[in-house]
Amino acid sequence: MMAAIPETMNALVLTGPGAFEIKQVATPTPGPREALVRVGAIAICGSDPAIVEGVKFKGLWPPGYPFTPGHEWAGTVVALGDGAARFHPGDRVAAEAHKGCGYCRNCMTGRYQLCENYGNAATGHRHYGFTSQGGYAEYVVASEHAIHNVGDMPFDEATNVDTAATALHAVQRGRVAVGEEVCVFGPGAVGLLCLQLALASGVARCFVVGRRHRLKMAVELGAVAVDYEQLGDPVAEIRRLTGGRGVDVAIDCAGKPATVQQSLAAVCNGGRVVCAGFAGDVELSLTDIVMREIDVLGVRADPNTAEEVIRLINKGSIRIGPMISHRFPLSDFGAALETFSKNLDNAIKVVVEP
Ligand SMILES: [Zn+2]
Ligand SMILES: [Zn+2]
Repeated sequence: MMAAIPETMNALVLTGPGAFEIKQVATPTPGPREALVRVGAIAICGSDPAIVEGVKFKGLWPPGYPFTPGHEWAGTVVALGDGAARFHPGDRVAAEAHKGCGYCRNCMTGRYQLCENYGNAATGHRHYGFTSQGGYAEYVVASEHAIHNVGDMPFDEATNVDTAATALHAVQRGRVAVGEEVCVFGPGAVGLLCLQLALASGVARCFVVGRRHRLKMAVELGAVAVDYEQLGDPVAEIRRLTGGRGVDVAIDCAGKPATVQQSLAAVCNGGRVVCAGFAGDVELSLTDIVMREIDVLGVRADPNTAEEVIRLINKGSIRIGPMISHRFPLSDFGAALETFSKNLDNAIKVVVEP
């Protein structure tokens, strides 16, 4: 047997909009087909600051208080609920955030992140760290559907399995193919992973539109840099670099109205625009989309892509290590959150270790 599981644990607890504390709470117990995992590391996601603030997604994420957020965690399985058979105590695993009800039409066709019973826990649906308790804690409970064996991958890198899997879903939605040209807007974690996955898919060139330390990191990972701060109009530069044609696929990871519009303007006739950020309301020319037969594709999370990225990370085809810029203990969550959300000290991916 493993080390005894304590009855209480440290956890980040949101107590109201923008208010949180680290405090002792009861260690959760795994239910049927769930695992209890001792969290080794958890990364701050771009969506976490908004969940902590509790304004942008009021009443949805979190659904109420007290609430423990966090979905990009990795750790060790320490106990199993009834009927859980996929894992064993001691297994090293990484999480994904969505677990569908399992029986609605979308779940049955593999699109469980679009579960028709979203948010209805009685049906078995979970969205860990969003509508269900998450992983900024010493222990977390998750369905065996929502964890993946990572082998020997270090936990700090394994926190990015969910992020990398989301990037793979974006690349797959865009039907990125060997020999094509791709442009990624926004070299945050998802953008840098889209870049790496596009290159792993055999694209001829992957342009990345960004600036400063994140763009420098993109170049280190193989991108052709388009520095919008220096150049002004990134679309003109992409057109120039592609002989006027534009790219086959543009992936917006910046999540701003301007970058979505630039993505549309940067693709060739018949191209694909992949929207991986929350850009809000954006004005786009439907005439342009129709006349040039552009596919505009939304991307939500990472259905059925985690196992593939785990292989690529373990093989070294995707590099997570260089993207991890900061590490904090859970007790310093406030400093970790500030470093991440204010992009202090060249932050890219900030990891918290309980
Ligand atoms: Zn995330
Ligand atoms: Zn469902």
